[in-house]
Amino acid sequence: MTTSPAIPPSYADTPTLLVKIFGKDRPGITAGLFDTLAAFTVEVVDIEQLVTRGRITLCALVTSPGARPGPGSGSGRDAGSGSGSGQGSAGEGELRATVHSWAESMGLEAEIISGVGDNRPRGTGRSHVTVLGQPLTASSTAAIAASITATGGNIDRIFRLAKYPVTAVEFDVSGTGTQTLRTSLALEAAKHGVDIAVVASGLQRRAQRLVVMDVDSTLIQDEVIELFAAYADCEAEVAEVTARAMRGELDFEQSLHARVALLKGLDASVVDKVRKDVRLTPGARTLVRTLKRLGYQVGVVSGGFTQITDALKVELGLDFAAANTLEVVDGKLTGRVTGDIVDREGKTRLLRRFASEAGVPLLQTVAIGDGANDLGMLNAAGLGVAFNAKPVVREAAHTAVNVPFLDTVLYLLGVTREEVETADGSAGDDDHDADGERLLGAPAS
Ligand SMILES: [Mg+2]
Repeated sequence: MTTSPAIPPSYADTPTLLVKIFGKDRPGITAGLFDTLAAFTVEVVDIEQLVTRGRITLCALVTSPGARPGPGSGSGRDAGSGSGSGQGSAGEGELRATVHSWAESMGLEAEIISGVGDNRPRGTGRSHVTVLGQPLTASSTAAIAASITATGGNIDRIFRLAKYPVTAVEFDVSGTGTQTLRTSLALEAAKHGVDIAVVASGLQRRAQRLVVMDVDSTLIQDEVIELFAAYADCEAEVAEVTARAMRGELDFEQSLHARVALLKGLDASVVDKVRKDVRLTPGARTLVRTLKRLGYQVGVVSGGFTQITDALKVELGLDFAAANTLEVVDGKLTGRVTGDIVDREGKTRLLRRFASEAGVPLLQTVAIGDGANDLGMLNAAGLGVAFNAKPVVREAAHTAVNVPFLDTVLYLLGVTREEVETADGSAGDDDHDADGERLLGAPAS
């Protein structure tokens, strides 16, 4: 007879064997184990394999021999069906002996554990917890794991996302709420000097997204107005006003007007000089390039000036850019800005506008910034990342990155370093930019 329509196998009451192999990795181990198992009528329920520093851990969950009717097994049921004890059939003893002798011949350790059914289903409430450490210590790892457990969460899987420029590890957690985890892990992050991001699991993590970044001290290392101030000999005055504004002590709009007024009379040719002075943050090119490859849209919003952000947009291939515009009359800066002011509310508004233009729900947006005027968009976005931010911003954001590499944001999105480097390798990119970015608009050297 022909086979009946396929019904997904349920292993709920089926005796199963967990076969675990550990030892020095070399080619052929996986094939060898399954070759050995193929001599018995078993079905593969689950497989996990990983290699750490040359040691392989291979786990295969298979049905006990004869536990299910399989091709070539005729009756399909051994004596003792219905015992449900998992203390298997005659075939099971033979399988154990065969696997152990194969493992011994390969110099591997084998462990075989009887049981019933598949893995326990993961609990509801699933999150990805990304930890960035430089270095990642055993004590901070212990504290994070204990904190996850204390919230009622279960760690289902742990794997390394990156070893460079920081150690990044992802914990897949179930059984507790994302917000609960965020709150409790934020305390551990602060205590142990690591960065921890918690995001909800789900399809939206893979969906096309929009990343919107602040510019000054986020995408670039500089505060653009201070670069202008250097040409107007008013650096000290401007720096002081900037610092107070970023600490939230001054209204941003007033401070913007006050600082721009100090630039009055400056020759407009200074704009070109400032463009060349701008230093991208380490990892900025890698971040943008990788996001674009993933099909993300990327934008910047800046309390600085379109004279610089427009150049950044072209240079980095950004989809969106918005900032204030320095007014120029007769080849001189007038000390005023034109158009709508991009302040805290302006940035939040622009995030929403870019999201709507990009066709991306706000929940799927990521905002990155360092200043008080970024807080609105950091909180409005699906994920707000405080990047080397002032304490007031760090404490209010969803998550904080305190290492000076912008590409570490990729790890928060679940992208591994290996994926970044493989993509760069196949595209022939060689401008790994973790230390020292080329100046904006300056020739590569
Ligand atoms: Mg900033």
